[in-house]
Amino acid sequence: MHSDAVRTLAEQNRSRYGLRMYRMRALGLGLGALCVGAVLYEHAAPPTLWALLIANGFLWPHLAYLRVKLHRGDPLSAEFQNLTFDAAMGGFWIAAMHFDALPSVLLAVMLTMDKVIVGGGRFGLRTLAAMVLTCVAASAAWGFAFDPYTSYPVVLACLPFLAVYPMAIGFATHSLSRKARQQKDMLERMARFDAATGLMNRQQWLHEATGELKRYQRVGRTAVLVLIDIDRFKDINDGYGHTVGDEVVEEFARLLKACLRDVDTGGRYGGDEFGVVMPDARWEEAIVAAERLRRQVAACTFSARGLRCTVSIGLAECHAGIASVSDWINSADGALYRAKAQGRDCIVVGC
Ligand code: GH3
Ligand code: MG
Repeated sequence: MHSDAVRTLAEQNRSRYGLRMYRMRALGLGLGALCVGAVLYEHAAPPTLWALLIANGFLWPHLAYLRVKLHRGDPLSAEFQNLTFDAAMGGFWIAAMHFDALPSVLLAVMLTMDKVIVGGGRFGLRTLAAMVLTCVAASAAWGFAFDPYTSYPVVLACLPFLAVYPMAIGFATHSLSRKARQQKDMLERMARFDAATGLMNRQQWLHEATGELKRYQRVGRTAVLVLIDIDRFKDINDGYGHTVGDEVVEEFARLLKACLRDVDTGGRYGGDEFGVVMPDARWEEAIVAAERLRRQVAACTFSARGLRCTVSIGLAECHAGIASVSDWINSADGALYRAKAQGRDCIVVGC
């Protein structure tokens, strides 16, 4: 159940990640092409360079997205290749602009910044190296033409890239960190709660019980540990199937939650066995609450089939002889065992 949810989460993340990269690439390369186009216009560049610019700025983002979507292996590695290609092409355009200062610095900074955000410092350096290499190779092919002067029209053409792209990266990063926080919360919840019943899982419940025992040992606040087991639950599974059994467990958990005080801590101890820690209570009070639960269960019908169930309950109050949570559980478990032995549908207090 957990691994399925984690897998679905990972798949959702991957497809959202691909879409987010697509949008950012389309925006960044489109605005970058405007800066480069302004310089090419001034240089009266040949049609081949214009065609390449249009392909890189307006066609490549869609191809890059398809490449990742249709990739048979790890789509992330395909995305990282795309990003390296983006950086290499940036180097090419810097050389093609003869190092026109503003658009060149803009391309180099933006194309490195987004790589660092996506893949970290090392990846940023790797893609920067790809950019420098392509830039040197392309510049050598053009005879190292160097003209860093930026005209006013080129400055104007750079403004949209300068203003819009960092803002878009800021929004995308914020939304990513918010989602990461939400997913972290969700994973933490999944690690602490039982997916079927919404009650704490065994580990978390034992952790709470340990805390309550320590409180008793520190300040003498009494508490009662209650173990509840559905009677002859196997018969329900065998007679009506596991799906009906699951429904009974879920409905019983709802009933249990409704019976708990705000301060009580309920958990699924395992299978058809549940636990409750009642802080600030003596066994006499706990037995009243347990009896109320026992009666309610016996009076209810479960699942659409209207099944009848009973529960056996063992409880134990903490005392000086209980040194660990295992001692406390053993005491309540011994009581539960005696309740079963006494014919079930009853409550026994442990010593
Ligand atoms: P007893 O009165 O002695 O408790 O008898 P029982 O039949 O309830 O026996 P026991 O508690 O030992 O066994 C419970 C069975 O419940 C064992 C397990 O196969 C089944 N079970 C455990 N968890 C689930 C669950 O989430 N759903 C379903 N359908 N069955 C479960
Ligand atoms: Mg049982």
